[in-house]
Amino acid sequence: MKIGILSDVHANLAALETVLAAIGTVDALWVCGDTVGYGPEPSDVLALLVERKATIVAGNHDRAVATGEDLDLFNPPAAIAAKTHQRWLSVAERDMLAALPRTLETSDVTLCHGSLRDPLWEYVTNPKSAAASLALAKTAHCCAGHTHVPSLFRAGAQAQPGRVKYETPYPLAPRAFLNPGSVGQPRDGDPRAAYAILDLAAGTVTFHRSTYEVAETQRRIQDRGLPQILADRLGFGL
Ligand code: ZN
Repeated sequence: MKIGILSDVHANLAALETVLAAIGTVDALWVCGDTVGYGPEPSDVLALLVERKATIVAGNHDRAVATGEDLDLFNPPAAIAAKTHQRWLSVAERDMLAALPRTLETSDVTLCHGSLRDPLWEYVTNPKSAAASLALAKTAHCCAGHTHVPSLFRAGAQAQPGRVKYETPYPLAPRAFLNPGSVGQPRDGDPRAAYAILDLAAGTVTFHRSTYEVAETQRRIQDRGLPQILADRLGFGL
């Protein structure tokens, strides 16, 4: 079974379309939260993921847009974008976001946005916090997002966050905590969209980057009146 792993799309439709085209045909798409927030097209991104029958968990931005939860913890441009998305989305779209589970177990993998200790807010950036989540997981592996930095932590051997090699299959065994990075707002100094492919039959994960039209998303952010910094940062991958 081949699965496309996405996270932190953040309403960046141009990046999502590029990534879905690069992934091609897979057996499933799993999304580790923050589908909305920051970007120019929350509604279209939600619709495309629903059309592609993606399995989606909630991120902190999804909760903030759906229910206002933890909006006081957001920095000013993030809060402005979340409140703007609240206005742009229909009641049905906000209800859909509000109904997303915080964690979701599949046969081999548990999905969450942050961690299993704190599904909305913990940033897993080191082997110790990854091990704490795996200790709580009933499955062998765990997929998360939130840091916007591709990373892989395995029991016994870990790749450094942000230093994963691309187009290189990593074995998952015996247990892995992985983060595909961000489709719509990478923060590792590389503006290309990030994603991963899980091959459960082979027992591997492979990380990928795709170049998309950053300037197009920047233009849409400006046209729709979102804070300029949200356009600028995409150019730097920060
Ligand atoms: Zn995010």
